[in-house]
Amino acid sequence: MSNQLSDRINSLVPSATLAMAAKARELRAEGKDIIGLSLGEPDFNTPDFIKEAAKQAIDENYNSYTPVDGYVELKEAIITKFKRDNGLSYEPSQIVVSTGAKQALYNVAQACLNPGDEVILPCPYWVSYADIVKLTGGMPVEVPTSIESDFKMTPAQLEDAITPKTKMLWYSSPCNPSGSIYSKEELRALADVLQIHPQIIVVSDEIYEHINYGVVDHASMASFEDMYDRTVTVNGVAKAFAMTGWRIGYIGAPSYIARACNKLQGQVTSGANCIAQRAVITALTESPERVRYMVNEFENRRKLILDLLNDIDGFACNEPQGAFYVFPDIASYFGKELNGVQINNASDFAMYLLEHANVATVTGDAFGNGKCIRISYAASTDEIKSAVARIKEAVS
Ligand code: PMP
Ligand code: GLU
Repeated sequence: MSNQLSDRINSLVPSATLAMAAKARELRAEGKDIIGLSLGEPDFNTPDFIKEAAKQAIDENYNSYTPVDGYVELKEAIITKFKRDNGLSYEPSQIVVSTGAKQALYNVAQACLNPGDEVILPCPYWVSYADIVKLTGGMPVEVPTSIESDFKMTPAQLEDAITPKTKMLWYSSPCNPSGSIYSKEELRALADVLQIHPQIIVVSDEIYEHINYGVVDHASMASFEDMYDRTVTVNGVAKAFAMTGWRIGYIGAPSYIARACNKLQGQVTSGANCIAQRAVITALTESPERVRYMVNEFENRRKLILDLLNDIDGFACNEPQGAFYVFPDIASYFGKELNGVQINNASDFAMYLLEHANVATVTGDAFGNGKCIRISYAASTDEIKSAVARIKEAVS
């Protein structure tokens, strides 16, 4: 009865990352031995010091609605974090806490976009950006990049993509799915282009900020004085603190945007979960060094998976500088047959790996790049070794 549903929901594409994770779960329930490298989810437990804070919050009876935009103490902790890690100064009125960075992004899109507004998305972009934009009637404008430019958009490409209808630029750095990081100089060069287009708001998704392998320093667009008033900095605790299911994300934004997000959230969720918010006060107040052990482990796994993948003919990888994904270009398989299966695109290839290697990955099409697949290495070294051995066997 899809004709009973709204056009909006009928045209919405399901999240490819979550769909692939669900498919892997389904196949496992049927008894198949699937290795899941599709979901970007740390395989660590939430650190004990954060769990303790949550238990304490329950015992202290934090059970009521919170302020819609977050507890005052959490906003203070976020302000301190932005100052400490990013050199950004925000007032409480500029902070909104949401149910994950995903809702934070959704709020910003709903708050800023009118139908027909264009949003520049350097490809590959995180899976949900395009659909969050489309839900507002906004138009994603994809800017293709390739492995040769380390999957980064150049200032000239940005300039070419801008039209009188351009309202926003959205990107993640470190990037999900490519792991690329824009250096401060590269961001400055993009900001220089934006100088002549003052109507454009930037959404800088920095959720992988702490998952950085030390070659390119993290930089925030809002740290440039001339960009501060038109940049929304998005962050969250899901990745760095292994808190995906706790669902807390936040923004630092110009006050008028924060107020709009607050108004929307007041009508939609009433605010994020109270216990999770209390726990995040502790997470953000402690030094990021306390969770460094996870980054060190991701770094080992990055080396492992790159070594293994680079040993397979037909896989071309950039070296991810952050996050926990590799995004190999596998276009050399297009037009070929593998075990009697015709491979014409990245979706065929990802499906082939699921069915013939029992390894779940995600097609690059979901990220606006049809030549690649995304492989998450937020998995144990044993799983990574077995998965890549299976992939190698299935494509040879
Ligand atoms: N942005 C990026 C780049 C992501 O990879 C994710 C995935 N979790 C999100 C936002 C959403 O994060 P959250 O789980 O906090 O909603
Ligand atoms: N961000 C993760 C990913 O890209 C989680 C899945 C999702 O939120 O869609 O795999």
